[in-house]
Amino acid sequence: MTGKRMHLETAVIHKGYDSAGHQDSLVTPLYQTSTYSFANAEQGEDRFAGRCEGNIYSRLGNPTVRVLEERMTEIEGGEGALAFGSGMAAVSAILIYLTKAGDHVLCSRGIYGCTYGLLGIMEEKYGITHDLVSMTTEQEVERAIRPETVCIYVETPINPTMELVDLEAVMAVARRRNLRVVVDNTFCSPYLQNPLRMGADFVLHSATKYLNGHGDVVGGILVGRDSEEMQHIRMTVQKDVGGIMSPFDAWLLLRGLKTLHVRMDRHVANAKTVLSFLEQQAMVEKIYYPYDDGHPQVRIAKQQMRQGGGLISFEISGGKKEAQAFLNALSLIKIAVSLGDAETLIQHPATMTHAVVPEEKRKAMGISDSLVRLSVGLEHPDDLIEDLTKAFEQVKPKLQEI
Ligand SMILES: *Cc1c(COP(=O)(O)O)cnc(C)c1O
Repeated sequence: MTGKRMHLETAVIHKGYDSAGHQDSLVTPLYQTSTYSFANAEQGEDRFAGRCEGNIYSRLGNPTVRVLEERMTEIEGGEGALAFGSGMAAVSAILIYLTKAGDHVLCSRGIYGCTYGLLGIMEEKYGITHDLVSMTTEQEVERAIRPETVCIYVETPINPTMELVDLEAVMAVARRRNLRVVVDNTFCSPYLQNPLRMGADFVLHSATKYLNGHGDVVGGILVGRDSEEMQHIRMTVQKDVGGIMSPFDAWLLLRGLKTLHVRMDRHVANAKTVLSFLEQQAMVEKIYYPYDDGHPQVRIAKQQMRQGGGLISFEISGGKKEAQAFLNALSLIKIAVSLGDAETLIQHPATMTHAVVPEEKRKAMGISDSLVRLSVGLEHPDDLIEDLTKAFEQVKPKLQEI
């Protein structure tokens, strides 16, 4: 990896854009165009042949999207990035790129539901198998490697139980066994965790979440440590499968990304305040937060994450009925999946994000019917606590009836 990097706080505002070539526009212009006109036939020929730089067609690259890609490259500490139309388009692109029929993908014990769904399709259609294993020690990772394993695909912290994957252990095994490592860094954002700097080959994000932060874009980003390889992926899997990001979504993302560091600090500060409140609640049975002293892998969390993040999961007394009653009793806090928005969001994994997981598997993953996941937003924490207090009070009598 090359040279000195801009600080994240500066890169999210300036990297990859110079107003000089853009009518002095302070803000990156929105190039809402599908194609580009060539000065003459020969220039068109040269661009297609790769002999000269320049735009061809927006599925192959767009100036607005490119600025976002350069910013993401810088803040993740990579050498190239590609923007996609959704987080899942980024996930599918990298898995299609890294695997062929008969290969094996080793995954962390929990992965995003649709990633799990995609791996199921790949297994059924192409015989590409996978295993989901706990990765809290090097031995656990090592033991699960098979002769056909080509890559290790992890998420950390794992949704919604906040179990940690020991990234250093994963990298050590991958280096020994010559395996590629992909990390879904959506839950942390580049402000809290940089797996490429720890040795991962690829980092991806659902840009829908913290990167955008405003709940108005669905998008994905893939960052890699080798610029030629990223260009190759751009001109093969991304171009031919086609899950690109629209210029307008890139433009909105550039706006959202400018405040990533400011937002993340507040998400974390608010999460800490809410965490302290939840710890005092008689109706809260268990709390899952990476930086919580009671977390079984708090040591790993502090080693690889700069702060604990903005997500808290917790179990409330009772079961599904009580959990649903609790959600229904909230008013400021919205019932919604997704995360990383300004609005505080709450969801019930057993019936929402993880409803497709068979009950037995869900239980084995630690997802009980009374578990709820809170994405702490940017509101005043006192207002959040007031809303939560009211909801606990409303659910309490129901519990006493049992
Ligand atoms: C939301 C999410 C995805 C999928 O991203 P989309 O933008 O919804 O396609 C992947 N991984 C994680 C961890 C997510 O939270």
